[in-house]
Amino acid sequence: YTGKTGSQLLTEKIKKIKVHEFQSLPVVVQESASVYDAITTMFLEDVGTLFIVDEKSKLAGVVSRKDLLRASLGQQNLNQIPVNIIMTRMPNVAVCYKDDHLIEVARQLIERQIDAMPVVEKIDNDGFEVIGRVTKTNITKALVDLAVDELI
Ligand code: ADP
Repeated sequence: YTGKTGSQLLTEKIKKIKVHEFQSLPVVVQESASVYDAITTMFLEDVGTLFIVDEKSKLAGVVSRKDLLRASLGQQNLNQIPVNIIMTRMPNVAVCYKDDHLIEVARQLIERQIDAMPVVEKIDNDGFEVIGRVTKTNITKALVDLAVDELI
């Protein structure tokens, strides 16, 4: 018997959860794609954040719903604006790795006031390959799973 309280055990469990246990599939768009295409992809794929990649599939940036709304104000032709001029670009993109602790990612989402982070792997020379996505929804799912565990 460890002498640990229920809340200490729960805390330990939470801190052990890794990103790969709850990550989803990433939705990526080429940086040369138009803002119009990005909006279409966001609806078709039913996600709130798109990861933008260059021609070598390296992470180049991220585009949120509000980024696309902002670009849609005014009377520009959205077919003629490439998504890479409105994205939040590297190196300003917050990323995480599949073996990171989920609670640490949650802390960063709150601190940086963002909804999602790409799960990446380092590419040999430089840059990142996008292998997954963590959103506030994945973190909510982890919370619900913990509560369900307690009930069994
Ligand atoms: P929304 O703006 O639709 O509410 P977010 O809160 O996720 O969605 O995005 C807020 C701003 O932060 C946007 O300009 C977006 O480009 C940027 N952003 C989103 N995700 C990240 C990230 N992982 N790293 C850096 N910036 C991000």
